[in-house]
Amino acid sequence: METILTIENLNKRFGAVHAVKNVSLEIKKGNVYGILGPNGSGKSTTLGIVLNVVNKTSGEYRWFGGTMETHEALKKVGAIIERPNFYPYMTAQENLELVCKIKGASYNKVAEKLEVVGLLDRKDSKFRTFSLGMKQRLAIASALLNDPEILILDEPTNGLDPQGIRQIRDIIKTIASQGTTILLASHLLDEVEKVCSHVLVLRKGEILYSGKVDGMISNEGFFELQSENINELMSALQNHPAIEKMELEEGKLVVYLKSALEAKDINKYLVEKGIYLNHLVKRKHSLEEQFLQLTNKN
Ligand code: ADP
Ligand code: MG
Repeated sequence: METILTIENLNKRFGAVHAVKNVSLEIKKGNVYGILGPNGSGKSTTLGIVLNVVNKTSGEYRWFGGTMETHEALKKVGAIIERPNFYPYMTAQENLELVCKIKGASYNKVAEKLEVVGLLDRKDSKFRTFSLGMKQRLAIASALLNDPEILILDEPTNGLDPQGIRQIRDIIKTIASQGTTILLASHLLDEVEKVCSHVLVLRKGEILYSGKVDGMISNEGFFELQSENINELMSALQNHPAIEKMELEEGKLVVYLKSALEAKDINKYLVEKGIYLNHLVKRKHSLEEQFLQLTNKN
């Protein structure tokens, strides 16, 4: 799969604040990536660096495999990192035509992109008459005018009512289904879970998790197990149908589930194989809980 953006060991310091710490991420064509983290975790700073509006302190990023200069590469990127700002007394159509002129896109893109965001019937309304949700949708249409390879959105649903949130999420899904790669920053676990295929979880600039969304939110939960002989324990569980994967962590075996399995059942299963546990804990949604706790502190 084609690589759109590679970030390697990126760091950003604002004086004493280490806002981004050794962040790495590889963005492949066609996926939807979320950067998830509470306020102040370094999401906007990371986006600002790759969009060349914030200077990095150290580390690297490469657009499209490093085959072109950043300013050339950014012509193939659509980004909304600030509150949408258009001319209030101009219509949606007029505002987007102006953007076409600046970006060198054809005017017939305007209707196509207004359609994508559900604003075609409001093309002749003045920008100042738009709700916040409509303004945000117009900004998305604007970012799409030059058919970018990737669309970057920073907190796209902030400040919107539930209906507005729903519309934006549906639009993002539609755009993704048409093959545009998406990178969005959000402090909402729910949003990332609903919209993204991959996620980078940040806390105080550091990566807590990086990978598929499915892997982060394991619905069935996981076990922490210990016995006298960990290898024996691992091989006993190797072919258990409910087990997704196993990892050794600090002397404990962490067993991730793909289907429901109760503590008493795994215990019985092991006893029947002559294995006696000295530690058995079942946990659920650990990262989700951790994430929500972090968010609530702010
Ligand atoms: P997020 O987007 O996840 O809310 P930010 O990237 O905006 O987080 O901020 C990360 C950290 O960097 C915060 O501690 C913030 O206060 C700090 N920060 C961001 N921009 C600046 C700046 N221009 N000057 C100083 N500190 C900044
Ligand atoms: Mg931010």
